[in-house]
Amino acid sequence: MTMPDTALKPIAKKVHAGQRLSAEDGLTLLRSRDIWTIGELANHVRQKLHGKTTYYNVNRHINYSNICALSCKFCEFYRKKGQDGAYEDSVEQIVEHAQKAALGGATELHIVGGLHPFLPFSYYTDMLRAIREAVPAIHIKAFTAVEIVHLARISKRPRKLDEVLSELKDAGLGSLPGGGAEVFDDRVHDEAFKGKIRSDKWLDVHREAHKLDLMTNATMLYGHIESLEDRIHHFCMLRDAQDEAIENNYGGRFQTIIPLPFFPDGSELEHLPGPSGLDNLRMLAVSRLMLDNFAHVKSFWIMQTLPMTQVSLDFGVDDVDGTVVWYDITKLNGTSDPAGDGAGGETGGETGGGGTHQEVGVNELRKTIIEAGYDPVERDTIYRRVERNGADWRVVDGNVMAEV
Ligand code: SF4
Repeated sequence: MTMPDTALKPIAKKVHAGQRLSAEDGLTLLRSRDIWTIGELANHVRQKLHGKTTYYNVNRHINYSNICALSCKFCEFYRKKGQDGAYEDSVEQIVEHAQKAALGGATELHIVGGLHPFLPFSYYTDMLRAIREAVPAIHIKAFTAVEIVHLARISKRPRKLDEVLSELKDAGLGSLPGGGAEVFDDRVHDEAFKGKIRSDKWLDVHREAHKLDLMTNATMLYGHIESLEDRIHHFCMLRDAQDEAIENNYGGRFQTIIPLPFFPDGSELEHLPGPSGLDNLRMLAVSRLMLDNFAHVKSFWIMQTLPMTQVSLDFGVDDVDGTVVWYDITKLNGTSDPAGDGAGGETGGETGGGGTHQEVGVNELRKTIIEAGYDPVERDTIYRRVERNGADWRVVDGNVMAEV
């Protein structure tokens, strides 16, 4: 593990010269056991882009329903209608969660769920409008590409993707999360995520969102039945899609890559070992190195854990996310588990790592970042700096941190 890997030398040269890495370079990095050199290279890029700054935001995850028409093998989140544990929140309940989040000082709601077979399209637009009216300042980041395609199919008059996104945007949608991408490979998809949209559709949704000036994120769920080549292919497809958004001057962009480690427990793939801590560090670092046109690499601490997130700040990560609350207020209001947050839906948390509600207070998170030698900066969803006084907050500068 500690032996320097000479195969990394030409890659190091490219990284220091600011050159783009090839797919072969990416594969060499993923195969290498020289974790320290990989970390150093990723850290070089991270420091160049963000210095010692580490971003976090105060947010709430709301999973409006766990009822899903699909049965993905890796998923322990979904239930069938009528099954024990199945639930669907009414719009009123969701608004209650949003109001509690606002009292807790949240700047963002992250809303995702299963692919509900019976809820009408109006449920989703009503939900957005009602939240917007009740808590106008909160940014609504909602519905993965998988859900967007589902929404295009469910109405009596099937809608085009851009129509669905426009209607949701008009109702209050602010941006798209990055879930549901899994691994961009048809073999892997057909084996582990049968019925779920493939890479071309996932990318179509994000392209349409970018055209409509919506910012989006991207994920990769790794460490199950995919190959290392598949992971690199995934990175290259995302990089190409971002190039397209930049070249065509779309108003939206991918902001952040969020690599998500697969947790086998409770899924149909329980026999698999899942990725190790070193695999996770390597993937975060290689994300930073391959995605040279993405501004941010995020550690989703609910799956990576806080101690590992602390280490990952030296391996290319500049952003920390998960449910983060302004702690005192939420304690006062007893909002310990407003929505079964952290359960998953399309967040990636469905894979077992986030099976129970988890949250961290701002003070604890800031301490975690400072202890690692970095400077915590609160941001909103689109990476504008936030100034906070308890649960009160305001954006203090423009959208300067979302671009490479
Ligand atoms: S991963 Fe998403 S689409 Fe697949 S079963 Fe779970 S909730 Fe449904």
